[in-house]
Amino acid sequence: MEFVYGKKERMFINTEIGCRAKCSYCYLPNLQQHQKRIDSISSHDACGFVERNPLFHRGEDGTILSIGCYSECFTETNILKTKEIIEQLMPYGNYIQLATKQEVPQSIIDAIIHHRRFEQQVIIYISIPTISAKDQLEEGTSPIRIRIRNIKRCVLNDIPVVLYIKPFIEGVTNKDIRLFMDISRNNNISVVIGERLTVMSMKNPMSASEVGEGKLSNCNNNLLYNRFINSFSKYCRCYKHSTDIIEYYRSMRKNYNDRGMDQ
Ligand code: SF4
Repeated sequence: MEFVYGKKERMFINTEIGCRAKCSYCYLPNLQQHQKRIDSISSHDACGFVERNPLFHRGEDGTILSIGCYSECFTETNILKTKEIIEQLMPYGNYIQLATKQEVPQSIIDAIIHHRRFEQQVIIYISIPTISAKDQLEEGTSPIRIRIRNIKRCVLNDIPVVLYIKPFIEGVTNKDIRLFMDISRNNNISVVIGERLTVMSMKNPMSASEVGEGKLSNCNNNLLYNRFINSFSKYCRCYKHSTDIIEYYRSMRKNYNDRGMDQ
């Protein structure tokens, strides 16, 4: 498993491989197989891998940078590294994605406000795949109330924030639909409802996910998942992929800039 990998459209950056939270649905244990300990690199090394990669394209239409697909951005050991990465990479002007199930530290909010090139550059995805089964399925994550507080603090500070319902867990996530709708409506935020990822089987190699260096595939494209999305999309802006929001911001900003040029 590589700390930094991806394509020119999107790169994934990790300063750790492994996570202590032990969510029961997490794909990491299956990807890591016999590797028990958490490997790590410095933020400097992680940024260097990005900067020296010939596929990395700078700028807001360039490579989307996603931090933490093989780890959690805001564990005690990762907070400072995540802050250093965003501070070093924000000046390039690329969109940056941060997904978390932990508390977003004030130092990160301050760094984003201080260094971002435009308001939508850094987007925080507050991951809540279940509310009522949190204690059973997510041993080491922060309480739901802390994650809702993250949302409110981002809104208050004009940092784009998304309710990230990923992975959609059949028979679990769908039971909390009313609670999820309340969070989205009360805070007036968009929602991404993402498929569950599992280690890919050779039977279905066409559905490889962007995440996981070709070893993971999506496995939710079923009736319950689609019904959940349809119900949600009647009430708020709702996407299947985290990058859909960035496409929306790109077109919104392009329209805005084009209108400015016409005047
Ligand atoms: S917090 Fe994320 S990376 Fe960590 S165990 Fe849970 S799903 Fe996996």
